[in-house]
Amino acid sequence: MTKRIGILTSGGDAQGMNAAVRSVVRTALDRGLEVYAIYEGFQGMVDDGNFIRKMDWDSVGGIIQLGGTIIGTARCEAFRTRQGRRTAAKNLIKAGIDGLIVIGGDGSLTGANVFRQEWRELISELAEGGEITAKEAAACPSLSLVGLVGSIDNDFTGTDMTIGTDSALHRITEAVDAITSTAASHQRTFVVKVMGRNCGYLALMGALATGADWVLIPESPPDVENWQDVLAERLKAGRKAGRRDSIVILAEGARDRDGKYIGSSDVQRALEERLGEEVRVTVLGHVQRGGRPSAYDRILGTMMGYEAVNALLSIKPDDEPIVIGIRNNRMTRLPLMESVKNTQAVAEAVEARDFERAMSLRSGSFKDAFLTFKTMVRALPHPVDPTKKRFRIAVMHAGAPSPGMNTAARAAIRLGLDQGHVMLGVHNGFEGLIEGEVEAMDWMRVSGWATRGGSTLGTTRRIPKGRDLYAIARVIEDHHIDALLVIGGWTAYETVFNLLKERPNFPSFNIPMVCLPASINNNLPGSEFSIGADTALNSIVDAVDKIKQSAVATRRCFVVEVMGHYCGYLALMGGIATGAERVYLHEEGVKLRDLQSDVEKLLDGFNSGKRLGLMIRNEYANPVYTTEFMCSLFEEEGRDVFDVRPAILGHLQQGGDPSPFDRIQATRLAGMCLDYLLDQCQKGEHNSAFIGMQNGQIRFHDMRDFDRMIDAEFQRPKEQWWLGLKGIASLLAKSGPNDEQGG
Ligand code: ADP
Repeated sequence: MTKRIGILTSGGDAQGMNAAVRSVVRTALDRGLEVYAIYEGFQGMVDDGNFIRKMDWDSVGGIIQLGGTIIGTARCEAFRTRQGRRTAAKNLIKAGIDGLIVIGGDGSLTGANVFRQEWRELISELAEGGEITAKEAAACPSLSLVGLVGSIDNDFTGTDMTIGTDSALHRITEAVDAITSTAASHQRTFVVKVMGRNCGYLALMGALATGADWVLIPESPPDVENWQDVLAERLKAGRKAGRRDSIVILAEGARDRDGKYIGSSDVQRALEERLGEEVRVTVLGHVQRGGRPSAYDRILGTMMGYEAVNALLSIKPDDEPIVIGIRNNRMTRLPLMESVKNTQAVAEAVEARDFERAMSLRSGSFKDAFLTFKTMVRALPHPVDPTKKRFRIAVMHAGAPSPGMNTAARAAIRLGLDQGHVMLGVHNGFEGLIEGEVEAMDWMRVSGWATRGGSTLGTTRRIPKGRDLYAIARVIEDHHIDALLVIGGWTAYETVFNLLKERPNFPSFNIPMVCLPASINNNLPGSEFSIGADTALNSIVDAVDKIKQSAVATRRCFVVEVMGHYCGYLALMGGIATGAERVYLHEEGVKLRDLQSDVEKLLDGFNSGKRLGLMIRNEYANPVYTTEFMCSLFEEEGRDVFDVRPAILGHLQQGGDPSPFDRIQATRLAGMCLDYLLDQCQKGEHNSAFIGMQNGQIRFHDMRDFDRMIDAEFQRPKEQWWLGLKGIASLLAKSGPNDEQGG
């Protein structure tokens, strides 16, 4: 008999659950399984067989862009009782299901595990009581279980991210950005309360991403008793230094040292008394769970769903259940109960006021982010220590603008000033450096840059050559520049690499230089994510969602062209996140016979009821088979059956305010680049490097390795990790016979 598996979503809903359901259903079908959705979580499993419905390829078409969960979720009291679980077991047995994928938080996964442990007992009881036949009992002797964590709080230990967290951060940054602009207009103070009972992730990352003034999280209460006075003094100092708005972000589970909850009205009252002005409160509440999933959550849900089915197939009866996580940007399988236990240990530590332990159970990046935040929010830097040597560090942008460049510059400048160094801003990229457009930056000069798209310092694509090098050498000498941070894309890397080669001719180039990857193309070596790529991906996803909606009533195929130069990252990830049925990449090449077969698939699909086709094409996928060519070809061949429209997304991909992920990464990377440069300066060395995150580790590569790591002709790294996701993309993109809505 074909193996039958069930999928359900349980507990609090989270954006990206639909992507996971879609991915589970389609991967399971591809593997020859029968797959049933159990509607309304455990409640549907307890209620009766009517909630257990067979899914086919098209049942999950057109859902990837929807928030919430289309198969419903619930909190189910009955499932907490043995009687309830007994009924649930009976309903599963009747449906012939003995494999379960549960998407939920630690509560749901605990419940599912209890159910799995009791399974054998429940089955024999049901068989003895004649409620199921001996044959039915024999067919499903054990229950295999795989969990996926759907939780906006990011409170699950062992995985770097949970499904829904990134979208919730999007909602928080959108809201706080909006509040900041009105707060700044009226010089007001706001307290914004965000979700997170035992986990301050959303509050901390939200605060870091929006440049808020203060954050209160459960794991690390204010370390002084009179924190209200300290907070008020901090906000006053900020105003005095020129800030027009004051924003405090509060996690719902924040407490003081004594374990007493700090409510938004406590903060409001304390500040009103001390500042003598009205303080407004905004409780974001369920807005954070709402709205469309971000690109990251769609991709994460998709990858986790795919991995869950593979894991379920490899589990042997009586194996411990596992939960799928993402560690260091790769899928990982974790022991479910151990992970649940570790997760609950944080809550227990917070409850027991053992805050050191609570913090120690959080990841290293969480702790680093907290320290960085504390420095960034100071109203003014620490006073300069006259005994310490002050270095002069220049910060600049280079290449095409990329969202998050300002965030990185702000972080480097503030962190450098805080340590007493002279921070210089170079305007207009290398053109500005050639012209000597160098300015000393102060603390408030970069206020507001955390959230601003584009490049406030200015950036150009000019690559210095010949006489330009003399000019640069001169500027470095005249301004006594000790080290250089270049935030940018290919132009930045190539230029710094060239400057190193010219060192024998220009001794003033013997200063440490570091490149921070900022390019929407994500085509830089040594880095899996460059700053700006996540924002661009979200812009693509937003645009494609709208394009899809515009076509509901017609039979139409869109060919969407995205940026990336010769790097197909945006095209492939955009394709996965929007449910495109075909992605054209330069890395794979495009052949006429591919196009022919694509036309045939489109014709078949539209002839049997399909209404929308979506193809995503990288801008340089093929120089001859251009977007225009492909549209004409499809149009001609599809003549009476469907029409074709091109959508060239163009520069909207380079614009926009940076996404939370880009802001957080930009801040982290800039801090580390600054440390690298200062370390070199202190040691009197001048090594140069580029930074990037690879396999989850942030590390530096020697700049001299640049040409060894790249494919110079096509300006991309020799190794591109994301190409490994092509298989998932093409599996999920196969269109079903009645795939009406596309995706
Ligand atoms: P989350 O999964 O988001 O943490 P809950 O803690 O509310 O949400 O759990 C969701 C559902 O999972 C509960 O309503 C209940 O049906 C089931 N559940 C949770 N804990 C247990 C348990 N210890 N035993 C059995 N079922 C449980």
